[in-house]
Amino acid sequence: MKILVINAGSSSMKYQLIDMDDESVIAKGNCERIGVDGHFKHTTGDGRVYETDVVMNNHTEAFVQIKNALISEEYGVIKNLDEVSAIGHRIVQGGALFSESVLVNEDVIKGIESLIPLAPLHNAAHVQGIRACLDVFGTEVPEVVVFDTAFHSTMPPKAFTYPVPYEYYEKYAVRRYGFHGTSHRYVSQRCAELMGKDIKDIKIITCHLGNGSSITAIKDGKVIDTSMGLTPLDGIMMGTRTGCLDPSVVTFIAEKEGFTPSEMDTLLNKKSGFLGISGVSSDDRDVTAAAESGNARAQLAIDILEYQILKYIGSYTAALGGVDAIVFTAGIGENQCSHRINVCNNLAYMGVKVDADLNAKAIRGVEGKISTPDSTVDVFVIPTNEELVIARDTMALVQK
Ligand code: AMP
Repeated sequence: MKILVINAGSSSMKYQLIDMDDESVIAKGNCERIGVDGHFKHTTGDGRVYETDVVMNNHTEAFVQIKNALISEEYGVIKNLDEVSAIGHRIVQGGALFSESVLVNEDVIKGIESLIPLAPLHNAAHVQGIRACLDVFGTEVPEVVVFDTAFHSTMPPKAFTYPVPYEYYEKYAVRRYGFHGTSHRYVSQRCAELMGKDIKDIKIITCHLGNGSSITAIKDGKVIDTSMGLTPLDGIMMGTRTGCLDPSVVTFIAEKEGFTPSEMDTLLNKKSGFLGISGVSSDDRDVTAAAESGNARAQLAIDILEYQILKYIGSYTAALGGVDAIVFTAGIGENQCSHRINVCNNLAYMGVKVDADLNAKAIRGVEGKISTPDSTVDVFVIPTNEELVIARDTMALVQK
């Protein structure tokens, strides 16, 4: 069975075609700058690359590019579209409506639409993606939606309720939802497999550290707390996002500078974090390089990040009543071994010991344990694979 996985953004659409017989990626690509000038790149599993500038006015036109590439003589990987058995979509916000993946029907699309106020850019784009997919592939190909928030839906009210007047929870569903759930789910399950244990018997802290970052506490295979909140702005500092702040910082700066709510939103989401502190870049590699060549603000950004990761691990260890495994994943978690060791060395008080050689070697897609045999907590680097989780959920629902 071949499954097409779609991640639709407001001006981009990433895809992977996965052969579920061996879970290999047969083709992948990205439609960028949809509605602007348009750039399309398609790569096959055997290394053929098709790249072109092409105007895509909307998501339907982007889907036409994907379809044509998949069946093209030169760059194609299937003979005709019938070979695509189902399509799985990544959806950022499932709110309280969706606690698991579901087959798409009109009610589901309306449900995702109703959550647009909670994730204006993302959910609106996902709906466009689903409708465009229906336009191009028709209703015969089943579609499934997999939510970033779903894995976090097990959080108890004491973890997800914000201490603002309760009426805002009741009126507007203002609460912590958490994001990157598909990634936290994949790496926690993989962690249990690598430990040879049932996930229900272990306590895990998963650190998804990328351009966007979140940390999650998992007990009995269920999320009990996570660092992102109502939106992906909460939690630890990120590439351009603040992470958590004293809310007064927001009103104070807004008043001083005369910023509107929308201008503040841009400042907090796009101009802060690594970029705002270092003044160099939002990219960890650039900031690390600047710090190494003596840039004090770049070093400060790194110190803040490592300190915040440390504090989250400490507080989630307390929330879990102990921890059996810590997992690092995503761009920074999988590659920036200096942050991993700096954080873990500060966890020596609770028996965490990382092997410096194993840590240095666990980069660029390498999966494995980086803690020493006598460490009281197992520490893993596990490359995330959200697309595979989406494809697996899609196959399971379609086969049902
Ligand atoms: P992500 O959002 O998961 O793609 O992660 C992006 C972040 O990972 C950026 O801050 C990058 O600097 C960082 N990173 C560090 N090393 C690498 C690498 N080898 N490949 C990709 N991202 C990396």
